[in-house]
Amino acid sequence: MSTQRDYYEILGVPRDASADQIKSAYRKIALKFHPDRNKGDKDAEAKFKEAAEAYAVLSDGDKRKRYDQFGHAGVSSSGMGHGAAGGFSMEDIFRSFGDIFGGGGGGGFSFENLFGGGGRAGPRRGSSLRADLQVTLEEVATGVEKEIELTRLDTCETCDGSGAKPGTKPTKCTMCRGFGQIQQSQGFFSIQRTCPTCHGQGHMISNPCASCRGEGRVPKRERKKIYIPPGIEEGHVERLRGQGEAGEQGGPPGDLVLVIHVEEHGFFDRHGADLVCEMPIRFGQAALGGTIHVPTLERDEGEGKQADAKKIVEMKIPAGTQPGQILRLRGQGLPTAGGRGRGNLLVRVTIRVPTKLSHKQKEHLEAFDEVDAEHVDDHHGKENSKSGKGIFDKIKDMF
Ligand SMILES: [Zn+2]
Ligand SMILES: [Zn+2]
Repeated sequence: MSTQRDYYEILGVPRDASADQIKSAYRKIALKFHPDRNKGDKDAEAKFKEAAEAYAVLSDGDKRKRYDQFGHAGVSSSGMGHGAAGGFSMEDIFRSFGDIFGGGGGGGFSFENLFGGGGRAGPRRGSSLRADLQVTLEEVATGVEKEIELTRLDTCETCDGSGAKPGTKPTKCTMCRGFGQIQQSQGFFSIQRTCPTCHGQGHMISNPCASCRGEGRVPKRERKKIYIPPGIEEGHVERLRGQGEAGEQGGPPGDLVLVIHVEEHGFFDRHGADLVCEMPIRFGQAALGGTIHVPTLERDEGEGKQADAKKIVEMKIPAGTQPGQILRLRGQGLPTAGGRGRGNLLVRVTIRVPTKLSHKQKEHLEAFDEVDAEHVDDHHGKENSKSGKGIFDKIKDMF
């Protein structure tokens, strides 16, 4: 005895589902796995049949009762003469349940016919448009208003989108009788083709509107102001609903999809809301400690400053700062997306080693280095006794 999936589970409905719930669940599944939509997909075909079988039982009051009481055994010899699972042929399914799709009679139906795909007449949604916007890191810090220019198909104002000259009306296509498609039988299935006379529109326009030449839509060049809030991330997608191209024959408009790109900055790297930069300091500053000046992304709005002048902040360098050490300036990063709080500015310190030394510098450095060498040996000797070998000993060992 082969195991079979529970019919309620197949349709994804509760055991106390109403007839309408069952019908609508089956309709959804049948459309999803419809052979027209899944050409050659055996798995989809199996699911399509499985759902039909479940529906055959659950949509019939008597069979459902028997199924509830006895399970698959209670209904296996009934129904459409099939034994175990998969006994349905496609023909059975279409003949018995074709009407659930609300499609035209005559036995055959296709996916296109049900869903208005493939050039069927009737309202169609307008295309969505995509625009890519570049912003600088400075603009991310403050937020910015950008202007974009786009050409989109808009509803023709002269004919109000009908395509017919004002005062006239489109007439129903005689070839397809307004369906936009013609049917050709091929074995059991009937194949749908876009009507060659009306090109799928379902109607003919004998007096086309002069403004749009019967299209119902006209290209329109538009400028749009877009506000980009502070803290926006690279790759951010903003969907402006209904601001794409106008729909056809009264269909809804598409969307305008904005994709934001943040330009690389020459000085700052961005890590979320944190900014990272590198600042060279003198060896003396690193050893002794001191204060340096670090530019930020914020504008310096002080008097007499240029428009692009950056606010400079002071940063303390602690004595004994090491090369590569990262010091943090709290709150000097970017605003977080959504506007709550700010990231930090992380300053990676590098030590500038002078390449040309004056006589005086050389003298002092030599003197310093002599003392330093003794000090380091001394120091690391002490460290050695405490915690194993110091780094200098390890280096010596290598030679
Ligand atoms: Zn027009
Ligand atoms: Zn036609």
